[in-house]
Amino acid sequence: MSKYVGVIVDVATQQTNRPYTYRVPEELTTVVAPGIRVEVPFGKRQVQGFIVETGDQAPEGVQLRALTRLVDVSPVLGEEQLRLADWLVARTFAFKISCLQAMLPAAMRAQYQKIITLIAPEKVPASVRALFGKEKEIAFDDDRLTPAMMRTIVELQRVGVVKVDYHVTERGHKKTVSQVVPCKTTAEYRELATHVRANAVRQRELLKRLAHFDAPVLQAEFLRGTNLTTSHLRTAEQQGWLVRKQVEQYRDPFNAPVKKTRMPHLTPDQERAVAAITAAEEDKTPTPFLLEGVTGSGKTEVYLRTIAAALQQQRTALMLVPEIALTPQMVNRVRSRFGHQVAVLHSGLSVGEKYDEWRRIARGEAKVVVGARSAVFAPLKNIGVIVIDEEHEGSYKQDSMPRYHARDVALWRARYHQCPVVLGSATPALESRARAQKGVYQWLRLPHRINGQALPRVELVDMRHMLGKTQVADFSPQLVTALRERLARNEQVVLMLNRRGYAAFAMCRECGFVVQCPNCDISLTFHRDRRRMQCHYCGHEQPVPRKCPQCGSRYIGFYGTGTQKVAEELHQLVPAARVLRMDVDTTRRKGAHERILTQFGNHDADILLGTQMIAKGLDFPDVTLVGVLNADTGLSLPDFRASERTFQLLTQVSGRAGRAQKAGEVIIQTFNPDHYAIQMAGKQDYEGFFVREMQVRHQNDYPPYFYTIQLTASGPQEAQVLQVLTKIRAALARILSPQARLLGPTPQMVTRVNNRYYYQLIIKYKQEPQLQADLRELVLRTQRLSRQHIQLIIDRDPQGF
Ligand code: ADP
Ligand code: ZN
Ligand code: ZN
Repeated sequence: MSKYVGVIVDVATQQTNRPYTYRVPEELTTVVAPGIRVEVPFGKRQVQGFIVETGDQAPEGVQLRALTRLVDVSPVLGEEQLRLADWLVARTFAFKISCLQAMLPAAMRAQYQKIITLIAPEKVPASVRALFGKEKEIAFDDDRLTPAMMRTIVELQRVGVVKVDYHVTERGHKKTVSQVVPCKTTAEYRELATHVRANAVRQRELLKRLAHFDAPVLQAEFLRGTNLTTSHLRTAEQQGWLVRKQVEQYRDPFNAPVKKTRMPHLTPDQERAVAAITAAEEDKTPTPFLLEGVTGSGKTEVYLRTIAAALQQQRTALMLVPEIALTPQMVNRVRSRFGHQVAVLHSGLSVGEKYDEWRRIARGEAKVVVGARSAVFAPLKNIGVIVIDEEHEGSYKQDSMPRYHARDVALWRARYHQCPVVLGSATPALESRARAQKGVYQWLRLPHRINGQALPRVELVDMRHMLGKTQVADFSPQLVTALRERLARNEQVVLMLNRRGYAAFAMCRECGFVVQCPNCDISLTFHRDRRRMQCHYCGHEQPVPRKCPQCGSRYIGFYGTGTQKVAEELHQLVPAARVLRMDVDTTRRKGAHERILTQFGNHDADILLGTQMIAKGLDFPDVTLVGVLNADTGLSLPDFRASERTFQLLTQVSGRAGRAQKAGEVIIQTFNPDHYAIQMAGKQDYEGFFVREMQVRHQNDYPPYFYTIQLTASGPQEAQVLQVLTKIRAALARILSPQARLLGPTPQMVTRVNNRYYYQLIIKYKQEPQLQADLRELVLRTQRLSRQHIQLIIDRDPQGF
């Protein structure tokens, strides 16, 4: 019996981080529980909120308002999630409501309708059944539902007489696929083939293909590897040989059939790693492991074994990957081991797909979750192991509220579930590696490649003196020679164009004018395919200028390299080569990544040309050459992680070469051949890089020697923004110990975005026990600033400044 509830309301201010108390209507006192959402009056409005506590003692001397209605019939967040939210609030300085919401799939947000469905109508009391009339469903927020009826519904739902669920129709998003349905037997098709004209080659091919299938088959699958087109199918349909059908595709993001794989025998190194991790699983100790293994050393197999061990113990497993849409191979490896027990969660899914997967997990039907950052909140119970692949990846940090790092959340959940965490990488984040060295993480290493091959040989090519010596601008003679060699040997090539800190822009060759965004301090990016100029910060778009807006000259040139331009150059250099492009333009459509990679895997192309997205996780045995066209575009960014990111990227992409029997070679073209990040990447020397970069970080008081917090203020008036930060700086200077450092206020790299000015203040500190509370206080006080349209963002452990 709960007569009162504490509710976190959906009003994004610091004040609402504490629950507001509401009275529970008599009829609902047996129903309310923490984790259930409710609608409550707030001021003059009705808002949604989460029940976080219940009680039967009212606070004294206050007149309480009653909650209006239930939004859920059973808790959508469990005890673990509610506690995790408290921790997130403290850790990330976020509003509690946004922490709670971050744990739910989008389908469960307010704009989606919820419905009650009758399952066993005869067991429903007449008063409630009357609401349904002839229908089987009614809306959950039906105004006729009194609190008493609501209680009845909740009770009926518990015994399975009615069902309460979200209705995600996804109008216009229903996916259909074409199917080919054979309508004759194999024998009949063979018979038909004997009657067609001898020179009707395609018809015979079609009949042969039809004879091959005895069940409906996806059209794409049917046509794959043939010379047939849809027009052949159309003709055949008219002749009654087959039927073409549009069928709805089930909302399974990775529904391609997967081959079952056999478990290989572990190498001794893998064996040691698996033994250490499974021991922690058995002992139920929340040990964090750093699994440092060179590319191709079999880290994934270690993950799979530890997941299997968790399932063996009747526990579940969570595996995070950087951006799942980019790593279908990884997802397939997990699915081929664990089949339908696997749920996949990531941002590329539609709202409905995500909701489906979320429900499967919450109901305990899916026991292994593979997903990108936000999957770290997956409602798994009884977790036995958490794996984070490529743990150094920046995409694990969320850059909007709540600004959490998935690694930190994983470590929290591991303590809650008493299970180990496995952080895997060939190039661990400096922070992680430093912790492993100090014994905070247990350090496991896989120093050898599985195939016994050495790491690929890397050649650095100095591009500084190439001007005039090359046939096309972006390719050194060394790379061209190597390319031709591979093509002659029928081997495959991966070419990467580094896009970090880099974009094509338009400049007047007479006066040097660069086309800028009117709203931001940044040049517009030239998009070749759409022939438009676009701002990557605010989205502003305009046509490509024909004349210089400043001097009227017609000599406007486009600078910078895009994959499209490189593809054209490749065509000049090696006209016979088949090139697949993988970048934002070619992968906008859903499933495009997977399609391109499948084509490459099937040898439908010789060269895979792409941006960063090709650096991760790909495992193609016939790739023997990796070329990096421009290694250093990211080095010049004013970011203390610039060297680390460059080293990681080059090491990752180099690891794509020579993964099977054939030896690999890597050619890295650079304008900074002497930079240590490039040098060490050339030697694939993580150790050397680590030592050197730690010195740099030490000299400059950067992580992992210091923790950092970034305060960003933005507003329409530059002077005001600066003034606010200056005041905050003064306040902080009084609070912080002498060991801490304060930098700023300084303008951010792009100071004006969408006509708002951005300035930042950096706090570097080692130990400031009071800082968290002080910053929280500060945020509360600066709440008033919102009236001046100034926004303050606090980011702990920012990925870069
Ligand atoms: P990493 O994740 O460290 O880059 P992978 O797990 O992708 O490495 O392993 C590289 C290749 O070696 C994969 O093709 C994988 O199937 C294979 N492999 C992994 N472990 C073994 C093993 N113990 N025996 C044989 N092959 C293995
Ligand atoms: Zn000009
Ligand atoms: Zn802009």
